[in-house]
Amino acid sequence: PEPAGPKPIRRLQESLINRIAAGEIIHRPASALKELIENSLDAGATSIRVTVKDGGMKLLQIQDNGSGIRVRDWVKIRNAANVFSQTSDLPILAERFTTSKISTFSDLSQLATYGFRGEALASVSHVAHLTVMTKTKSDTCAWKACYEDGALIPAKPGLTPDPKPCAGNDGTTIIVEDLFHNTPTRLSALRSSSEEYARILDVMTKYAIHNSSVSFVCKKAGSPSSDLATPSGSTTQQAIRLLYGHSVAKELIHVTVSSSQSQDKDKEAEAMDVDDERELEKDDPEAWSAEAYVSNASYQAKKTVLLLFINNRLVDSARIKRSVEATYSSILPKGSSPYIYLSLRVDPRSVDVNVHPTKREVHFLNEEKIIERICDAIQAALSGGGRSRVLEYQT
Ligand code: ADP
Ligand code: MG
Repeated sequence: PEPAGPKPIRRLQESLINRIAAGEIIHRPASALKELIENSLDAGATSIRVTVKDGGMKLLQIQDNGSGIRVRDWVKIRNAANVFSQTSDLPILAERFTTSKISTFSDLSQLATYGFRGEALASVSHVAHLTVMTKTKSDTCAWKACYEDGALIPAKPGLTPDPKPCAGNDGTTIIVEDLFHNTPTRLSALRSSSEEYARILDVMTKYAIHNSSVSFVCKKAGSPSSDLATPSGSTTQQAIRLLYGHSVAKELIHVTVSSSQSQDKDKEAEAMDVDDERELEKDDPEAWSAEAYVSNASYQAKKTVLLLFINNRLVDSARIKRSVEATYSSILPKGSSPYIYLSLRVDPRSVDVNVHPTKREVHFLNEEKIIERICDAIQAALSGGGRSRVLEYQT
């Protein structure tokens, strides 16, 4: 038989394109949850309560006490002319590339929020049933809206798709049901619900430590007790002790290091008041600072635990991990590893955040030099010198 000629090129169906794109951002329940937690933090929430059914595959519910989403303008205009209005945020909430966080390209260089792409809720709506309940402080009641494939849909057959008033507290509740119900291959790639739940707890643990002033609670639906709970207003150490246990927390050393303290001018930097220090760093694109809680020589884990945040983003850096492990190799017995929480702040201009949301490996300006300074500070702290202090705990 003759070899077949090339097949015609066809445009994929819109719904298929959207589903593929959504799958790039939402891999599993824990990646959906990460996006939703970040939205709650962006909204200024001080309390984030997560309820999970079946490892997040059946239900993932996030309730926050943040700013809420604007609805009021929509109501006003709808009453007057009885039409949908673009001035409400709810009708376009789950559309792709709709965001309240940036408006120009240059906003990207001074981003103060986790989000900016406007893709998370859109993605969720393409691979799950999405329900949003929200209330701002000035709203007299909460509003409830349901979404599918980026658009509002009726909550029940026979109803209109527009948002409905309901009872509710200030803040936003996002309900994600039947994740990947329309993408069976994705669904079958998931692990058991207990494994997916473990990933959910892992994501929450890390965010709860980095945002220790925010209260995080995670529980299984129907269960009377929570599997993770932190009170609001905790310190980092308190959060670590709650979530990783006293055995880790009691062996931690606090380390701070920044570009403004040259290595042998520690004293000078300490003497300088904070305002001066800020003045010094203002507009210096090479300024950076790091805060860490690292385990001492008495703590020995089987595997390195590294919680790394760069400009508040949970990221991976093979380079930082390798360097820190090398620092500990002369202190810990062979085969044992440290616990490290490291929060690094660099000028937003020196790190490109405009990479794919799931791309966690990052690079930044002067990376090598900064890592070296951090490791030197850890080394100094471990040997009892440097700018560090051993934490004392009451039990
Ligand atoms: P992004 O976070 O990149 O802006 P999302 O799709 O995650 O995109 O969210 C779209 C918009 O929905 C946000 O810009 C924000 O205005 C609003 N939003 C989402 N979640 C919340 C929340 N929990 N509280 C208040 N507003 C929210
Ligand atoms: Mg977001």
